[in-house]
Amino acid sequence: MKTHTRVAVIGGGVVGCSVLYHLTKAGWTDVLLIERDQLTSGSTWHAAGGFHTLNGDPNVAKLQGYTIGLYDELERITGQSCGLHRSGGLLLADTPERMEWLKMAHARARYLGLETSLLSPSEAKRLLPLIEEKYFVGAMLDAADGNLDPYGTTHAYAKAARMAGAEIYLKTRVSSLSRCPNGTWDVVTTQGTINAEHVVNAGGLWAREVGRMVGLELPVLAMEHMYLVTDDMPEVMAFNKERGHELPHAIDFKAEIYMRQERNGIVLGTYERACVPWSPKTTPWDFGTELLEPDLERIAPSLEIGYQHFPAMAHAGIRRIVNGPFTFSPDGNPLVGPVQGLPGFWCACAVMAGFSQGGGVGLALSQWMVNGDPGFDVWAMDVARYGPWATRSYTNEKVRENYSRRFSIRFPNEELPAARPQQTTALYDVLLAAGAVMGDSWGLETPLWFAPPGVEPRDVVSFHRSNDFPHVKAECLGVRNAVGVTEIANFAKYEISGPGAEAYLSRLMTNRMPKVGRIVLTPMLNPAGKLIGDFTIARAAPERFLMWGSSQAQIYHMRWFELHQPADGSVRLHRFDLGLGGLSIAGPRSRELLARLTDEDVSATAFRFLDHRAMEVANCPALVNRVTYTGDLGYEIWVAPEYQRRLYEGIRTAGQDLELIHFGMRALLSLRLEKNFPTWYRELRPIYGAFEAGLDRFVDLGKPDFIGRDAAVAEKASGGKLRRVSFAVDALDADVLGDEPIWHGGNVIGWITSGGYGHYVDRSLAQGYVPAALAGDLREGAFEIEILGDRRKASMLREPPFDPEGVRMRM
Ligand SMILES: Cc1cc2nc3c(=O)[nH]c(=O)nc-3n(C[C@H](O)[C@H](O)[C@H](O)COP(=O)(O)OP(=O)(O)OC[C@H]3O[C@@H](n4cnc5c(N)ncnc54)[C@H](O)[C@@H]3O)c2cc1C
Repeated sequence: MKTHTRVAVIGGGVVGCSVLYHLTKAGWTDVLLIERDQLTSGSTWHAAGGFHTLNGDPNVAKLQGYTIGLYDELERITGQSCGLHRSGGLLLADTPERMEWLKMAHARARYLGLETSLLSPSEAKRLLPLIEEKYFVGAMLDAADGNLDPYGTTHAYAKAARMAGAEIYLKTRVSSLSRCPNGTWDVVTTQGTINAEHVVNAGGLWAREVGRMVGLELPVLAMEHMYLVTDDMPEVMAFNKERGHELPHAIDFKAEIYMRQERNGIVLGTYERACVPWSPKTTPWDFGTELLEPDLERIAPSLEIGYQHFPAMAHAGIRRIVNGPFTFSPDGNPLVGPVQGLPGFWCACAVMAGFSQGGGVGLALSQWMVNGDPGFDVWAMDVARYGPWATRSYTNEKVRENYSRRFSIRFPNEELPAARPQQTTALYDVLLAAGAVMGDSWGLETPLWFAPPGVEPRDVVSFHRSNDFPHVKAECLGVRNAVGVTEIANFAKYEISGPGAEAYLSRLMTNRMPKVGRIVLTPMLNPAGKLIGDFTIARAAPERFLMWGSSQAQIYHMRWFELHQPADGSVRLHRFDLGLGGLSIAGPRSRELLARLTDEDVSATAFRFLDHRAMEVANCPALVNRVTYTGDLGYEIWVAPEYQRRLYEGIRTAGQDLELIHFGMRALLSLRLEKNFPTWYRELRPIYGAFEAGLDRFVDLGKPDFIGRDAAVAEKASGGKLRRVSFAVDALDADVLGDEPIWHGGNVIGWITSGGYGHYVDRSLAQGYVPAALAGDLREGAFEIEILGDRRKASMLREPPFDPEGVRMRM
């Protein structure tokens, strides 16, 4: 056994083996894998082996496409069969809503380059005669679906890695991990200790236990999962004989089942509502290749519907039932990447679809380790997307919710109820009493919109405009015509201080740092010049900066800040989390409102656009930024949480005769659309450059050095490949949601990042990326955007539809 290695991968399931293979492929061959028992002896061995490209996040869908394409390469390199059956798969819709969802998935597949087609029920039946047509309204065929042999595939990864120089130690359990003074890890195993520069937690069912070895409680939980295998079925054999190929896979959303052919019978699995976690606190180290007790009662409701939808199944005998555990994160996507605060410790956990995602996870992680960056957008599976609020019980509730909804539609305006409210501010009950409909923003209850008296504060979920539409409109008009107040405690807030703070921030950010009392807006780039952040920075004192950013990316950003923090103690970093509460007032009367709450001079000349001040507001010590995301005159007022109620009451009282209204996040997002402002995670992601995103004026190439500068210079010179643009859309009763294809001249040339209704300008608006060469095509209706399967005319906007000169923000 080696005593030193560059990387120790813990876990020989399909994920660990894929990581090992991809590390060798990326050029690191001094790597090894440590497996407690035999390869596949966690959840991998009893998997049903199905694979597909469908995922709610297009970037994860792309990685699933990569994984599925990889198997031929693995077989070619190793000669080891993966037992591939590329049979294609049908997604069966039983309701018009599900069909709309499939139309969206089909449209998205188009720009991802995936091969799908929409079918009528009779076309679906021609491909899969087992279905009872009358229960379905349509279907989507995904040509990439199929299944494989989990054992063979895992061994193929392992063999390919070994052929490239990696070592694998079986029957060796990692019992503890300790950090050495030089930053490396001592990996203590039952066979001896290995010193590793990097450790990868690919512990699958034991990922929590491996996390706990370094003081980490990962948001991951195993669920019991059942599938049954039927006896030989004459209908299956007749189909094979007549067509000369296997049955396609199928997902029946209504019955919550998936099925595929296995030998001459069928494998049928369920994601049942009455789901059950397995070993919710600790996974026993001696759990091995045993299966769990099947519970047909639990899946009976699904089987009952399934037997109606596939009548031949009702007569088939059951040969065997498999009940095995596998792991999930709260949102069902993997937990991948470096862990904040633990340099050299990496995660490749919670991979619930190892045979669709394992290859992509291995690729992303290996590139991240070798090049310092995953090379593409992995946000949806980044371990940093969860904060400390994702506790063990939170995870338990959310994973159960996610499992039981695996085949349910998540509507764009649907807030899921499990584990809520998890975090609340001091204003929670006050805002609820004012009619707030709350949403979950990184674990925090945040007002989405306000129901006026007599209106039920509840969303009617839909892909179309819904019951909130007139109320959000009233909020937008209230802001634009007078003044509104909203809670913004969910923004990320940081303090960066110390003698090295300015130089540090200047190197991280593309913009020049502000003078004391001033604010700048600035993107942050990675070395490849791609966007990894977007911040508002105020200088409170020569050596003290306050910074605001995206709530969801707080841990992601802290990880980056810490990576670049000087070791000499010259820069201190602090993330406020909910230690700073905020309210924003916005609209033409907001100055008048602020003036009533303070004795400071807040006139247009004394307190200018992009000024930052510490002042008393409504008796509270506050930090005030003259900036708002509404694109209107406005202020963000920040106070310690214990002052939040006092501040709110002050604003409400002083605003009574100024037509002050409440507004929520939905109005805020609509107002920002009217100004073409981008949002993090939608328009701003690590697949776009700053110039492509139209952030030119926030990138100061006059600065001699900042991370990503060379790439930014090159992007500016070349003009970049893409351009962020905005559209007015000829929409009917549904606005864009994001991820819709953009058509031009009969071809799909780009994709939508976000959109909605611009209530004040009274137009349906969208933002997206198109090839730079098309960004000047301002002809009326030159583009089309596919909304729910319907190609709607769209015209590119030359300038923001509201206040293009920015007069209101500066008034
Ligand atoms: C019934 C069932 C059906 C499924 N069907 C499908 C399907 O059709 N398609 C699909 O894609 N997925 C399916 N899955 C899910 C799939 O099995 C998982 O996505 C996959 O196995 C995850 O692999 P892993 O490598 O992350 O974890 P695991 O397979 O659990 O591997 C982790 C490995 O780490 C080892 N280990 C842990 N801790 C240590 C330690 N301290 N020291 C040394 N070794 C350690 C374990 O022994 C284990 O071998 C199914 C799962 C089940 C249970």
